[in-house]
Amino acid sequence: MSRDPITQAMAALHASQRGFDQSQAVPFTDFLQLLRAHPERLIRNVHQVFHDMVTTYVGQGFDEYPEDPESINFIGYDFRRLFVENTDQPFFADRIFANRFMNMIDAFRGGAQQNKIFMFEGPPGCGKSIFLNNLLRRFEDYAASEAGQRYEVVWRLDRQVLGEHFDADGQPVLDRLAALLENASESGGLRDVADAHRFAPRQTFVEVPCPSHDNPILMVPKDQRPAFFDLLFENDEFKWNLSYNKEYDWVFRDTPCTICSSLYQALLHKLGDPDRVFSMIHARPYQMDRRLGEGISVFNPGDRTARTTVVSNPLLQRRISALLQDSNQVRYLFSRYARTNNGIYALMDLKGHNKDRLFELHNIISDGVHKVDEIEERVNSLFLGVMNPEDNKNVHGFQSLTDRIEFISISYVLDSATEVEIYKNIFGNHIEDNFLPRVLENFARVIISSRLNEKSPALLEWIGDPRKYRLYCDENLHLLKMTIYTGLIPAWLDEDDRRNFTAKRRRKIIAEAETEGHVGFSGRDAIDIFHDLYSAHARDDQFITMDTLCGYFVKARPDLAKQLPAGFLDSLRRMYNYQILQEVKESLYYYNEDQIARDLMNYMFALNYETGTTAVCGFTGEKLEITGAFLSAIEDRLLGTGARETRRQEFRDATQREYTSRTLTQEIMVEGRDIRETQLFADLHKRYVFHLKEKVLEPFLKNANFRRALKDYGTEDFRTYDKRIRGDVTFLITNLSDRFGYTEMGAREMCIYVVDNDIAAEFHA
Ligand SMILES: [Zn+2]
Repeated sequence: MSRDPITQAMAALHASQRGFDQSQAVPFTDFLQLLRAHPERLIRNVHQVFHDMVTTYVGQGFDEYPEDPESINFIGYDFRRLFVENTDQPFFADRIFANRFMNMIDAFRGGAQQNKIFMFEGPPGCGKSIFLNNLLRRFEDYAASEAGQRYEVVWRLDRQVLGEHFDADGQPVLDRLAALLENASESGGLRDVADAHRFAPRQTFVEVPCPSHDNPILMVPKDQRPAFFDLLFENDEFKWNLSYNKEYDWVFRDTPCTICSSLYQALLHKLGDPDRVFSMIHARPYQMDRRLGEGISVFNPGDRTARTTVVSNPLLQRRISALLQDSNQVRYLFSRYARTNNGIYALMDLKGHNKDRLFELHNIISDGVHKVDEIEERVNSLFLGVMNPEDNKNVHGFQSLTDRIEFISISYVLDSATEVEIYKNIFGNHIEDNFLPRVLENFARVIISSRLNEKSPALLEWIGDPRKYRLYCDENLHLLKMTIYTGLIPAWLDEDDRRNFTAKRRRKIIAEAETEGHVGFSGRDAIDIFHDLYSAHARDDQFITMDTLCGYFVKARPDLAKQLPAGFLDSLRRMYNYQILQEVKESLYYYNEDQIARDLMNYMFALNYETGTTAVCGFTGEKLEITGAFLSAIEDRLLGTGARETRRQEFRDATQREYTSRTLTQEIMVEGRDIRETQLFADLHKRYVFHLKEKVLEPFLKNANFRRALKDYGTEDFRTYDKRIRGDVTFLITNLSDRFGYTEMGAREMCIYVVDNDIAAEFHA
């Protein structure tokens, strides 16, 4: 008979939870073993753990221009694991914010960032609360993982050693009573209720957790630490870093909390032997729990401040006093700040009660200590907050306060790639299929244009007169700025400007972002606008094109267009036209590598025959009708269309001579080369490419048949065009699909747009 479902379910649960009890405390000497095995992991303050958490989730980052000597390390970071995956609501960091954030995090490793409040300041709808929530959640995850583990002090006061009287069960009467009472009492806090379970029968010690989550290494008396660590660790790189790197200063500087210090002193006094004191010191994993306020606390403006700022535990106090037989030596008193010592204390918004909290925090940070009754408590936490710019008035004007606060701007998204990611995340990746390539990103650019400052002194100082780029960029250089914010350098910059794009200039341009993204369409606005456009125009048989996009803003929603910089839509369309023309050029040229080879081989072969004859080419296997027109068509790309008949004849003779005297007899027959590896082929190829690049758009400009064939591509009528044109059109469409992400239908539609709007002529100077 099979076991009943309840037993089975419980057994499965039991198996899944085995080994998950991290709360196991180990004696101090065992902790030292762990310390020797994992010194980098276990000797970290909260700033260092936070740094490691972020770099673990974010990784190295990606630089598009690794060889650029003027690089300012403005690189692409992948924040998906930190802010997007496994979250209730994702947060999208644009490249600007990502770099700002990573620079802040970099400084954490060095250990110089204590005694500061990091305040993220951004407008409503920029996602700053989501940012903070996701960040804290990741921190909690990381702290619970092996990579994020640290230890904290827990005392086990041995009753036998301290000479307490035991009853027949081996448990003091007082304690049994205390444990019972404590379960029903609120004053001890949740963690202490959990601790109460440890006072089960036969418990031979009183457990006193350090409320400040002190790292056990701090229990080594300060003046002894250099010698102690010198003996403990091998002479390796870590020891060197510990001794000489600033980031480890705190290891030699910080003191344990007053409870731990006074317990240590009292026990040493009573027992007279440090070994016996250390035998009562244990270490257990520091477990963070945001909901309990252990290690992480987040305060909302509406959260009332505690009636009393001092936390005590009278029952534990009584027990400690009884063991030490002196009620005044150790006072188990601490503040709420102790619970987030070595952890994170965060303010969600600077309104309501959080204003008071900020001022209180400021006093603590300025002095480094604060009073709990008459006891001084030290707090080393990571202080974080988010705020609206309008709440600045609560902070600014208090010089001493602003000195301690580091403001980090968090804005609406300023880079188009990230903005597109947001739409995809909300509406699904498939939305892209409804847009012609580049058009979705252009929608994002329209949204972003409303968020930028009108003028950019840094760009104007660099570019001078923006009108020189009027074919690709708007007068305010917003399109240039957006490209730079996305981490790219536009290909259309002239050589001088490219050269003058120095590190200093780059820093100035990126610095302008500090004051941008605080006005214009918010994140929520953008999503609403996108939804409006998408639901009105997304169809299975029809793409959203630049015409759709511009029409939407100009005709359907002039109310939105008013919020855009003047002339921006026109400039955006010009830049788009320029870009797709580049795609067309490259696609026409690219396919010709194969075509070029075939043309050249056929040409070299055909020259050995009289005109008017037919022959099968020995290289390509194609059946050639060798006529003057056949040769001229290829010569148009070797000599240019303007070449006279005599020049053509001369060229044919010279080429044929070279072919028979060297190419065929020497290189192919004697040296065994492939025709494509011969000198003649290389020379002809160079000529062909030169003329091809010059003339690549000619079919668009001069050949009405080509343009009509484009429109008829995919229809019955397409078959009526001559072979060459059909070949050219098919290769163009195929390359646009393969190289630039068009569907066949999309590529055709884009080409028709190029033809109908005469875009080749627009850029044909
Ligand atoms: Zn302590």
